[in-house]
Amino acid sequence: MDTRQIQKVLQKISLKGEALVGIYHSHPTAPPIPSTADIAYAYYPEAAYLILSLSSNQPELCCYRILGKQAFVLPFQLI
Ligand SMILES: [Zn+2]
Repeated sequence: MDTRQIQKVLQKISLKGEALVGIYHSHPTAPPIPSTADIAYAYYPEAAYLILSLSSNQPELCCYRILGKQAFVLPFQLI
């Protein structure tokens, strides 16, 4: 998403009285570990960053909090 699209989405979230809780993207050919670019452009420290990897036979989903240009694993459970 470009910056304008992101701002529109954040505005809609705010108007609904909701909050940004997570941001998702996939790594089609890489493991579910934040890349240097993922960390560099992680502008929402309040959000959980979910990365789905399709690089192996079994899809793998991991979740991180990215603060101060460091990624920390966030435990989560799919229900
Ligand atoms: Zn990534």
